[in-house]
Amino acid sequence: MAERVLIQDMHVYSTFSDGQNTIEENVAEAERLGLAELVFADHVRSDSKWVPAYVAAVRECREQTPVALHCAVEVSILDVYGRLDLPRGPMGVDAVYVVCHQAPSPDGPMNPRSTCERIEAGELDPQMILRWMVKGTAAALHEHEHVVFAHPFSALPSLGLEERDVPPELVDSLAIAAAESDARIVVDERRRCPTARTLRPFLRHGVPVLLGTGSRARETIGRYDFCASVMREMPEPVLARAS
Ligand SMILES: [Zn+2]
Repeated sequence: MAERVLIQDMHVYSTFSDGQNTIEENVAEAERLGLAELVFADHVRSDSKWVPAYVAAVRECREQTPVALHCAVEVSILDVYGRLDLPRGPMGVDAVYVVCHQAPSPDGPMNPRSTCERIEAGELDPQMILRWMVKGTAAALHEHEHVVFAHPFSALPSLGLEERDVPPELVDSLAIAAAESDARIVVDERRRCPTARTLRPFLRHGVPVLLGTGSRARETIGRYDFCASVMREMPEPVLARAS
């Protein structure tokens, strides 16, 4: 079980976005650790111009390593209709990692600080924010093929909320949406989400589970503590592969 946990890292960043190390440096680290599989999911925005060079760089590396390399992009969900902050046109990536970096509203992403203040002042119902988050995510999962639900609910702490504030029926509805859209879910080491409670419904509905460190530097690639503890709470080992 522990071995299976250790042989994949399905979410790392490179210098193309938030990472400190190049694709080559990260792949060298994965090789050193004996990882079987590595996914780059650099953070893209609608005005990002580097995607073709990024895809080419991962492809080139793929020819020269025993590690199964995949090229994905991480993209923000902008509103409750699942609109994504994605460049136009085909990108040639293997997967699209969708993330709520900020809570989505009907009008666009919500500023965390003012949202938090309005929740505290009783002007905003946190349950409505959670429903919007789930609605926006479910819609985004349907937007693309090869979609991965990345660092689920990681925006909650910035709003003064926690995963346990999300009602079970809401988590369940999102798990069903993920299963229907053939999406996968990543348990994220750096952001320590989702918890076992949130992950269980996804498993129950047959959503493949991946582990990623969310590494921004090679020193943390393939090292799991939080993810390993979540896996130990699962009824059986259920790690999927990206390919
Ligand atoms: Zn992110």
